[in-house]
Order: sequence, then C-alpha cells, then structure tokens
Amino acid sequence: MKKRYIELHLHLDGAITPDIAKDLAALQKIKLPYKDERELEKALMVSKDCRSLNEFLECFKLPCSLLQTKEGIARAVYLVQENIKRQGVVYAEIRFAPQLHMDKGLTMREVIESALDGLKKSDLKCNLILCCMRMADNKEQNLETVKLAKEYLINEESNKDYGVVALDLAGAEALYKTEQFIDVFKLATELNVPFTIHAGEADGAESVKKAVQFGAKRIGHGVRSVENLALMKALSEKKICLEMCPTSNLQTKAIEKIEDFPIREFMKLGIPVTINTDDMAICGTDMGHEMNLIRNKFDITDNEESEIYANAVRYSFAKNKIKKQLMEVQ
Ligand SMILES: [Zn+2]
Repeated sequence: MKKRYIELHLHLDGAITPDIAKDLAALQKIKLPYKDERELEKALMVSKDCRSLNEFLECFKLPCSLLQTKEGIARAVYLVQENIKRQGVVYAEIRFAPQLHMDKGLTMREVIESALDGLKKSDLKCNLILCCMRMADNKEQNLETVKLAKEYLINEESNKDYGVVALDLAGAEALYKTEQFIDVFKLATELNVPFTIHAGEADGAESVKKAVQFGAKRIGHGVRSVENLALMKALSEKKICLEMCPTSNLQTKAIEKIEDFPIREFMKLGIPVTINTDDMAICGTDMGHEMNLIRNKFDITDNEESEIYANAVRYSFAKNKIKKQLMEVQ
C-alpha cells in the first residue's frame, strides 16, 4: 500500500521546485535570471557546504520574488499542494509570512486572501499557518499578522473546514531571540489564536523554554531541547509536539551529523514527535525521503511510524472532524 504522510511544517517559499518556479515565472511574465535548468536548480537549492541557518535563509530570495502577486501566491499554494499530494501527503499545514509578500504593493490581507484562493483549488486537505518574522523593526507587521490570523481563523464552530489555523514565528533565531517577541504572543494568547514557534534550532534550549512559556502548542524543530533534561520532561508532561525536520537540521547545522538527531531521546521520554520536510525544494527532499532516513538511522518500526502519523493528526491544528478522517485513512 502506498504510504501516507502528514506534513505539519512546510514553508510555502521553501517548497518552490524548479518546475513550480518556471510555472510562476511564466504566469507572471517574469524572466528568471538563470540561463539553464542547472543554474535554476542551484539557485533554489541549498549548497552542500552551507554553514548556518543564516546562509540557508539566503536561498529564499528567488522563490520569494515569485510570490509577490495575487495570482503568483494563489498558483504557488495550489501547485505545492498538488506536488505533495503526489508524494503521498494526505494533510498539510502550509506556512508563510504575509509581510514577506508585499514587495509589489500587496497588503497583508490580500496576501492571505490570495493564499486562501489557491487553497480552495486543490482537493488536498490543507490549512494555512501565518508566520510572524524574527527581524528588527517589524513589530507592527507581526502584530498585524496576529490580528489578521484572528480574523481569518477557522475553528470548530466555523462553517469552513479549511483556512488559517495558527501562527508561527520564523527567521533567524540566533540573531533575534525568542524572548523579544513576547508582545506578539501575548496578543495571540489574548485573541485565542493557537501558535507554534520555531525554537531550539539555531538557538539553544532556553529558546524552547521561552516558546513554551509563551504558550506554544507545538515547537518547530526543538532539536536543541536535548541539551536540557528538565525541559524535555516539561515537553513530555505538557504534551508539546515537536515538528522535527531531519534533513533541514543537517543543512542548517542545527545538528552535525544525522546520528545526533535526538528523535530517540525525545520518544523515550514520551515527547510527541512528528517528521516534516521544512523546505522541501530548498532541502531537496520529500516526506518519503525524511521518513526513510529516520527509519534507517534510528530503526523506527512500523508501529512507531504509525505513532508518528497519529501524533501529526492529534497535534495538527485541523478541525476534529478532519482529524477523525485522517485517523481512518492511515
Ligand atoms: Zn521552518
């Protein structure tokens, strides 16, 4: 039987493959500044000698430039959904930062509505997460992102099954510490908007601790939680789900080698883990590859793989009725 996967941590701009880039460029009459396929691939994929998260983040320039119009954003959301559907993904939460798609004059509201337009076109079960960004001087944009998330949020009472389901905090974690974003997540908590936070990737366990204190329901990556046993126990007790992304962690040097990926340590302590691609195009991976990687390296059994799937369902931000359907298709 074909394997089924759930992807909870997937960035829209990190999922722009060369084929999708060409489609988006043609649609928007943008000339791609690359002479051949190989050069395009190189621009969209992280190099083997990438040294840090900051260098990794450089790879987002080209895909981001293709996501600055209504039609570009809508088309990209649709094409990414179709792409992951072919790979066996049955449910996904695609994330993006509305404030990074305003270069050609779109408002954040227009960015979100364009993404929602794209979402409707595919029959893949899929929701959106809006990212706030770790940057200097963008507090207003982050607060606006929270307010818009509230406005577009779907919950159990909504008549819609799919839409915006949560917030995130993304960007250069080592440069802009989690604690600087307290006001953003205070507002999110006040407005009852659930959130995940990228933490414990480029920065240490303290960053994860802060994210948990803020009230994050899930943690993006969280690999460096392994540095602090008390924190790991807290994650286990509070049932905070980790959105783990092995290949991405290798490429950003969050871990030195795959053997250092602490999935076994987390599982042993009962922390709910999930496996994700993060930036499938930039990392040159897909869900099947990520799952095989951890199966082979950590002797993950079929039962454990089923548990990882069940975690993804349980800790997804989807409506209960969708979760029920996802449990049944496994
Ligand atoms: Zn990420």
